Amino acid sequence: MQVWKFGGTSVGKPERMHSIRELLESDPNRKIVVLSALSGTTNALISIGESVKAYEEEQAISKIDDLKTHYSLFIKELYSTEAGLAKGQEIIDSEFGFIRSLVGIKPFTIKQDKELVAEGEILSTKMFQAYLEEKGDSSVLLPALDFMRIDADGEPELNTIEEKLVTILNQHTDKQTIVTQGFICRNPREEVDNLKRGGSDYTASLIGGAIRADEIQIWTDIDGMHNNDPRIVKRTFPIRELTFEEAAELAYFGAKILHPSTITPAKLRGVPVRLKNTMQPEAPGTLIANQSSDREIKAIAAKDNITAIYIHSTRMLNAYGFLRRVFEIFEKYKTPVDMITTSEVSVSVTIDNSDHLEAITAELREFADLEEHDRDQNIICIVGNFSADKEGIALKVLEAMKNIPIRMISYGASEHNLSLLIHSKYKSEALNVLNERLFYYEDAMKNIFSAQ
Ligand code: ADP
Ligand code: ASP
Ligand code: MG
Repeated sequence: MQVWKFGGTSVGKPERMHSIRELLESDPNRKIVVLSALSGTTNALISIGESVKAYEEEQAISKIDDLKTHYSLFIKELYSTEAGLAKGQEIIDSEFGFIRSLVGIKPFTIKQDKELVAEGEILSTKMFQAYLEEKGDSSVLLPALDFMRIDADGEPELNTIEEKLVTILNQHTDKQTIVTQGFICRNPREEVDNLKRGGSDYTASLIGGAIRADEIQIWTDIDGMHNNDPRIVKRTFPIRELTFEEAAELAYFGAKILHPSTITPAKLRGVPVRLKNTMQPEAPGTLIANQSSDREIKAIAAKDNITAIYIHSTRMLNAYGFLRRVFEIFEKYKTPVDMITTSEVSVSVTIDNSDHLEAITAELREFADLEEHDRDQNIICIVGNFSADKEGIALKVLEAMKNIPIRMISYGASEHNLSLLIHSKYKSEALNVLNERLFYYEDAMKNIFSAQ
């Protein structure tokens, strides 16, 4: 069995949903199909939630009406029969009835906000499965809220998911296509929750890991993982193969094509992940597995909104136990540290979740001196297989960055990652100069010499 996930743009137009059906038909494997919300819907729902929370009822209702109109037009092109259209209208009326019922609720809690945001994936999956039914395809809709579980820290519980999902799937062995929602789940209080923005990728990987699928395919609007961010850098190209480790580093350090945690469950259960383009299904895409081809430097990614904290030990020499005390504070506030650099008496760290920054720095000041922290930082992460050529890589990277101030450097923690901390105003320049130096310079040199 395979798991295929289609993102927002891949389901964002009726004709795209038609193409997804054709793609599913062209492959004989049984599949679990994980869908995101239609592109733009999650943002629209978040915005509706903000109006409801602020008790701006008129504004909330007008936003809801606009969104409903969008869906009413969508189903006209999605279905081709009276019965199909009637079913589509019934889905829209029922889900928008629920959304409308939230307006005016006081207080509007986080719990209701999450129920509201979940409607995006509920709508897309109900509409798509009704379309398969209209066409007479063998399919069933499994509500993700029946099996996707997170713990009190928001971490998915893979064993529970496996247990619940396997039981449910056993009741549907006759179905060719099993449709479910990405992104949404339940928390330990049984409330509706989610896996954070872009979380449908993570759902697909959790399901693929849970059922030990043959393969997880992430279908999106680009032909695989590129060697750099195509929104910022012009000359990028798709990478054909990545190891789980390399892909995990790229996702964690900002490659938007994958939710940061996507690779973890797939790697844990050894399920290969293939990234594919809905608009160009014949393109090979990217295969993520245990092995990959040997190119040393594979890709560059950038992680935004980083805060750097600079900590100095007041005890100066022999300050053993100092790091433990520092990290205990980050642990207490459940704040992951991304980058660390140390000297004899100082340690600098970066975080991307600054919700508890004030409390963390206040506690650090009890036993350390702190420099003013820097917000608006960026981690530039260079990923590849660096074991083969340790001498050359740092040189190439630093040479490319010679005109950009670097605040921190981290190298050697794994064989796959070299990270640099810079101010975010240099992000675009850094991605571009690194791209030219790491991926085009040697070829350009070869051409110059062979022409001579
Ligand atoms: P979906 O809605 O299918 O989940 P996303 O918008 O989340 O799609 O992810 C795909 C987008 O990720 C691409 O359109 C591309 O602009 C962006 N992206 C950023 N970095 C990379 C990268 N290294 N490789 C490929 N795409 C990337
Ligand atoms: N719909 C959710 C979002 O926009 C989840 C996803 O698309 O993966 O973040
Ligand atoms: Mg995405």
